[in-house]
Amino acid sequence: VLFIQGGGTVQFAMVAMNLMKNGVGCYVETGAWSKKAIAEAKKYGEVKIVASSADKNFSYIPDCSNLDIPENADYVYICENETINGTTYFSLPDTKGKVLVSDQSSMFLSRPCDVSRYGLIWGGVQKNVGPAGMAVVIIREDLLRDDLPKFVPTYMSYKTHADNDSLYNTPNCWAIYCCGKVFKYLLDNGGLEAMHRRNEEKAKILYDFLDQSKLFTGAVRKEDRSLMNVPFVTPTKDQDADVVAASKAAGFDNLKGHKSVGGLRASIYNAMPKEGVEALVEFLKKYEQEHN
Ligand SMILES: *Cc1c(COP(=O)(O)O)cnc(C)c1O
Repeated sequence: VLFIQGGGTVQFAMVAMNLMKNGVGCYVETGAWSKKAIAEAKKYGEVKIVASSADKNFSYIPDCSNLDIPENADYVYICENETINGTTYFSLPDTKGKVLVSDQSSMFLSRPCDVSRYGLIWGGVQKNVGPAGMAVVIIREDLLRDDLPKFVPTYMSYKTHADNDSLYNTPNCWAIYCCGKVFKYLLDNGGLEAMHRRNEEKAKILYDFLDQSKLFTGAVRKEDRSLMNVPFVTPTKDQDADVVAASKAAGFDNLKGHKSVGGLRASIYNAMPKEGVEALVEFLKKYEQEHN
């Protein structure tokens, strides 16, 4: 388990630099964050997009049960929770024996995870764990390499961090300290099972409302809906903007959806209490009653 500076974005390059032994990475394209990973990996080798949900504006997770993975592929990469698009995987792809790499940034520690099924898991810590600027990387030891290409900076080698217990250079003490507090909180409060139950309960309150609403519609296919990020729309862009303005006036922040999706998005990370989701649903209900 490594603590590496540079936030989540640095991992797009580190994954490709460290794991592309044959120079071939397979990517599942499910939205904005997997597109960034793909663009970065292309600088270091060949990228094969083995599945994509671009045809429906990334509103679902494509079927990954029989992917066309070339024999020489080094890994299969997924963004396990697409923060902007609001999708998540409820079952992992069949990687046909290849290493599975997952960006868990916006779902890290939100539910139990069988780490043994992955070669590498990474998460920028700022969504669920601590202050921005750092990533936690969980990497299988056999993927740490001595034979990296010369162009790879020392800091960008996972082995550098592993060999030095994440203390190769001055660490981000503040972020690590805050993460430690959160780890202890989770351990003292029922662990990831308990966190998962809370997150399911929270998300259900919002999804149940959206499913019966005549004004608001969830933007994601039901079976792929994220427990963390909930994008939804009204029938028109103008009304979307009106709801965002009204929500702001009522004391709710950051409900505007990303420009690539439009509409609204409620991010209900670990730290959002159930009461916050209930208050949002009350607000949306009231808005709907007043605007029909
Ligand atoms: C936030 C996020 C990132 C990027 O994190 P930064 O620390 O801002 O670089 C990467 N992937 C996903 C899925 C994210 O949600």
